Amino acid sequence: MRITFLGAAKTVTGSCHLVETDKVRLLLDCGMYQGHDSARNHEPFPFDPAGIDYVVLTHAHLDHCGLIPKLVREGFRGHVISTRPTADIAKLILLDAAHLQEEEVEREARRARRRGEPPPEPLFDVGDALEAMDHFSIRIEYGREIALDHEVSVVFHDAGHILGSGIVELHAEGKTVVFSGDLGSWDRPIVRDPSPSPPCDLLISEGTYGDRPHRSFSESVEEFRDAINIVLGRGGSVLVPSFALERTQEVLYVLYELWRKGEIPQEVRIVLDSPLGSAVTRVFSKYSDWFDVEGRELFSRHENPFRFPALSVTRTAEDSKRLNHAGGGYIIVAGSGMCTGGRIVHHLRHRLWREEDGVVFVGYQARGTLGRAIVEGAKTVRVLGEEVAVRAQVWTINGFSAHADRNELAHWITATEAGRVVLVHGEEHALTALAADLASRGIEATIPSLGDSLEL
Ligand SMILES: [Zn+2]
Repeated sequence: MRITFLGAAKTVTGSCHLVETDKVRLLLDCGMYQGHDSARNHEPFPFDPAGIDYVVLTHAHLDHCGLIPKLVREGFRGHVISTRPTADIAKLILLDAAHLQEEEVEREARRARRRGEPPPEPLFDVGDALEAMDHFSIRIEYGREIALDHEVSVVFHDAGHILGSGIVELHAEGKTVVFSGDLGSWDRPIVRDPSPSPPCDLLISEGTYGDRPHRSFSESVEEFRDAINIVLGRGGSVLVPSFALERTQEVLYVLYELWRKGEIPQEVRIVLDSPLGSAVTRVFSKYSDWFDVEGRELFSRHENPFRFPALSVTRTAEDSKRLNHAGGGYIIVAGSGMCTGGRIVHHLRHRLWREEDGVVFVGYQARGTLGRAIVEGAKTVRVLGEEVAVRAQVWTINGFSAHADRNELAHWITATEAGRVVLVHGEEHALTALAADLASRGIEATIPSLGDSLEL
């Protein structure tokens, strides 16, 4: 069996690994590059999409599923294997990505016409995204082995990263490969704790936060609460740039708990201003039986952290625009999480220069994004073509992360009986730090470069 690392090698996006046996070729994820690396999405696949039999999809984040429509457009006729929540959420994520690309291409086409250049093509359009969904034909439950053709079988284990996320256990040619996908962090709301890895010949693990520990989730909630009370107390509003998937639902869950316990003002107006975030939140309500014990108990008491009196959901762009002049007393949760587009960008333009307001980052900010610039302390940033001074108070709370931190990764990998360990899905310094930590525990881990292969 040969495994080739075709994405998320020494970087955090574009997850994609090709597994080839004598009889079958499959991809572990087929994700999109984001931020700094996004030009790579337009490069041709280094394999024939028509020759791929399966895509084993760990979860519905765009950097794991985002190039499936391109794969289908270029000839893939096989099956996508995923959990039910992943399939439902991926549909929303892929459609949203298709819309965004159509819009972007339209803007670029106008520019190209002015310069007399040929108009750009989108990576995929809404039709491609819908067609891709027809290939999500194999649904998998945690812990249940599915036999594929050619003596290959797959088992998913709960990765505890986002709703429906899986650790892949792949059996082929008498060998076992485990791919962590994105590994969750322990003791978080909604999702269960990550499962231990089964013994394997090869463990491919992510290492996003391989170089740093997170603060605990409960400390992060306190930090969030304090930030909210500081900003609301001086008459400001809080912006929370949030990924539509999982982070938004976690933030709402936490805000619900803080509000219910009286730890933030009862008159606060919490607004979910994210069409995609609202749609994904509805899917979460549908799959509340996939939640952890506390989440299931909450729903069984007929409490819904996604629907409570202090929370409202914007329906239209006009609702969103009205918030620009609404002043203080609001917590606005809006996408995109790294401020690369979406409604948060408009809120930043209207509020970043206000000293009384606050911006609370609760997610990873990749290189080259507006979010990263703000987090790194830029005095001014360019937002929607305008220079805007950064005067609002900025918090970065990393304990909300949906990823295992350095210690959790090291423990999880160390506890696995693995013949070989390979680290992917992390910036190089993070993976190098994790490899050094593992070496001190007697485990040798290698860090592949893009396009590297190994034989098993
Ligand atoms: Zn993820």
